[in-house]
Amino acid sequence: MARVHPEIYFFGAGVAEGRADMRELLGGKGANLHEMASLKLPVPPGFTISTAVCNYFYAHGNRYPKGLKEGVAKSVARIEKALGRRFGDAANPLLVSVRSGARVSMPGMMDTVLNLGLTDKTVVGLEAVSQNPRFAWDSYRRFCQMYGDVVLKLKPENKNDRDPFEEIIERKKAARGVTEDVDLSADDLKELVAEFRELIRARCGHDVPQDPWEQLWAAIGAVFESWNNDRAIVYRKINNIPGDWGTAVSVQSMVFGNLGTDCATGVAFTRDPATGEKGIYGEFLPNAQGEDVVAGIRTPRSISKAAGRAMAHRQGMSEADRRAHQATLEESFPQVYGELLKIAARLERHFRDMQDMEFTVERSRLFMLQTRNGKRTAAAAVRCAVEMAQEKLIDKRAALMRVEPVQLEQLLHPQLDPKAAKKTIARGLPASPGAVAGEAVFSADEAVAVAGAGRKVILVRVETSPEDIHGMQVAEGILTQRGGMTSHAAVVARGMGKCCVAGCSEIEIDYAAGALSANGAVIRRGEYLTLDGTTGEVIEGRVPTVDPAMSAYFKKFLEWADGERKLGVRANADTPHDAKVAREFGAEGIGLCRTEHMFFDPERIDAVREMILAENAEQRARALAKILPMQREDFIGILREMEGLPVTIRLLDPPLHEFLPKEDAEVRELAAKIGVDPARLKQVRDSLVEFNPMLGHRGSRLGISFPEIYQAQARAILEAAAELRAKGVRAIPEIMLPLIGEKREFEVLAGEIREVAKELAAENHNRPGAYTIGTMIEVPRACILAEQIGEVAEFFSFGTNDLTQMTYGLSRDDSARFLGDYIERGIYKKDPFAQLDPEGVGELMRIGIEGGRKANRKLKIGICGEHGGDPESVKLCHRLGLDYVSCSPYRVPVARLAAAQAAIEERKAKREFKDV
Ligand code: PEP
Ligand code: MG
Repeated sequence: MARVHPEIYFFGAGVAEGRADMRELLGGKGANLHEMASLKLPVPPGFTISTAVCNYFYAHGNRYPKGLKEGVAKSVARIEKALGRRFGDAANPLLVSVRSGARVSMPGMMDTVLNLGLTDKTVVGLEAVSQNPRFAWDSYRRFCQMYGDVVLKLKPENKNDRDPFEEIIERKKAARGVTEDVDLSADDLKELVAEFRELIRARCGHDVPQDPWEQLWAAIGAVFESWNNDRAIVYRKINNIPGDWGTAVSVQSMVFGNLGTDCATGVAFTRDPATGEKGIYGEFLPNAQGEDVVAGIRTPRSISKAAGRAMAHRQGMSEADRRAHQATLEESFPQVYGELLKIAARLERHFRDMQDMEFTVERSRLFMLQTRNGKRTAAAAVRCAVEMAQEKLIDKRAALMRVEPVQLEQLLHPQLDPKAAKKTIARGLPASPGAVAGEAVFSADEAVAVAGAGRKVILVRVETSPEDIHGMQVAEGILTQRGGMTSHAAVVARGMGKCCVAGCSEIEIDYAAGALSANGAVIRRGEYLTLDGTTGEVIEGRVPTVDPAMSAYFKKFLEWADGERKLGVRANADTPHDAKVAREFGAEGIGLCRTEHMFFDPERIDAVREMILAENAEQRARALAKILPMQREDFIGILREMEGLPVTIRLLDPPLHEFLPKEDAEVRELAAKIGVDPARLKQVRDSLVEFNPMLGHRGSRLGISFPEIYQAQARAILEAAAELRAKGVRAIPEIMLPLIGEKREFEVLAGEIREVAKELAAENHNRPGAYTIGTMIEVPRACILAEQIGEVAEFFSFGTNDLTQMTYGLSRDDSARFLGDYIERGIYKKDPFAQLDPEGVGELMRIGIEGGRKANRKLKIGICGEHGGDPESVKLCHRLGLDYVSCSPYRVPVARLAAAQAAIEERKAKREFKDV
């Protein structure tokens, strides 16, 4: 059959006009419906209106392209023909769903209308055909509710109020003395329909239309409009999704999971989205319609018997009780379960990825309503990638490309300290792992306000909805009273890599009072609570956490990454503890040890101040003599931790005034403590004030003005190395000069350091062994004159924090105030301090690398600015041909993976192997 319109694609009933790779036009959901139809899976017939129509709709004042009305009418006729039912027919009506779906999944952000086509006339037909008046009226009340919400935009009058339709249902249930919606009778539901419509008339001034075509076009328009609702806009901003992609609309014939006890609806994953373990995993509700499972209205049941048993065990439920009240799909619908297993395996093989599927069972027949690559925690992503490669579903390189590097940081998140005392007050579902503590807040707006003041918050809600997205974004963790493992809170938190305990029915939330209570304990707004998203525990107060251990899958995955990458990965670390953590995470050296951090130690800051206050070189040398042994100990600690690996130690960098007290009262206190005249101390402090401290007396300029400082630091480094060497520990120090912009500047300072080394040897000390002297490249002039500097420096390390600051002429300390405006207005794509600017700063780096290597072919070049842990920047560093990146210890695994992906992408571009 010929296509009815260029922007309409039909699927089902043996046809598929679209394919999985057409997600740009059909949206992810639409494209996969077409793909499932082409695989001859049981998909109810329907058609997709493309995203091009969405864009047309916005560009032409909410109008549609020519011929679309006729195309939709013809497509509906095609469904009618396939099913033998007519849209709007009073005897045997066709009902449809109108579903949104963008190129990438935006869970719950846009709208859908179900049971469309029901009117006062057709509901009678549905009653007769189904022989089930309860079902017919339940469907009608759902339609009125969704139409009111999505099309007529009838929302609660106050933000924290419940949905007005749900309130009417609650009142009805209370009046009938029942707790579950399934216990309402056909007459109750008929009354609900009347009450809903009364509410709609009162609030909107008109009724739910009784013409199904009017319903259909209103719903199509509303779904297109939902692309630009507030929550979708926020979601797109957070996830960097362009606003001009648009959504597609799929109009699909309804199948019913709420016709009776031989019906059900559910969601299933081919692997556990929290852990990655292989095997069908999911939830369903008998006699229910799609939205019920995710909305958390009833507690869903497990799909497989094993999972059901485990869940009942966690809840302390007996096996008999479980079988009576929580029978699994495997037990209640064994045939459907078998078929679902087969389809799941087929889809996973077909898409070569873990699938997240929605299904409905109508009169014991299984229908597939959706499949997509499932969102998963970082732990699950890594395990799935490793196991799928081991199962030969994908190859190793594809496995490495499957995980977002930043996700890995989640795996390094803290867990509760097992030795710490804790008072668990309730237990919910372990929806998303990690352990966090924060102040309880009870609304998304409150979360934003408190987090904005720099405090940590836990967002506590009865259940979350897409309206809460901004609060979820800033919260440390999320706790909900209702909803399952696939509820909104669980899915979104997992995607964000945030800790979440969901469906914790033991807690009671009082929004008005701003408090939650559980088993006798009460936590009020602003009081601390701790969540353990791995066990589902809710704990009173603040429990200490410990660093996590790496799983075997994680280790294997990173080993594979190491096999692909060309870039080395080091860490920025200033203490032996950080160095140890970094080494455990796979750092191959220290790329930046900032020595000034050691100076701020309360035990030595006074000696440092004495050095600053010295009136001549002699006094300065005396103060430095006090600091030297302490610095030597620091370096011994770090060099020992990093035995056999290079450690780049940078000499003093910040302007000296940073070490002096700012307030006059502090000046007086310090003067008394170190026995100097307060007036002199104040005068020295004032004399150090600069208009532009970041361009002032800092970095190597300190070494030029006060040679004793750098000489003392160099001595501490070399003595530390010598002492370790004498003990058989291989120490590899690299001495780094900051802020060099001129060859001669480097030569003078390096010369003085070499003098120190000679002195040391002459003093007949232990010999320091091999050491090198290199420079940071962080002033633009150093990039331009890199060839000259490369003749004398033994290594380069790009300090891209300062290099970005000086290239843009943007203060790294103050620009956050207005950079947001540049990003909002699309002038800068990214904050250049977070992601390396490839065109400006990247170009200077290219010039610097070219110059340096011209002077010295073997010059070792790295990066130690914050960008060294940002995946996109790491990839740029790979392309520029750096030897290594250096980043914070927790980002070492991120950089290892990003470096591997960069190498794979490069080889792919050169067509060294087939697409991965
Ligand atoms: C840099 O400028 O990139 C750098 C690493 O040094 P610092 O951040 O200490 O100025
Ligand atoms: Mg710097």
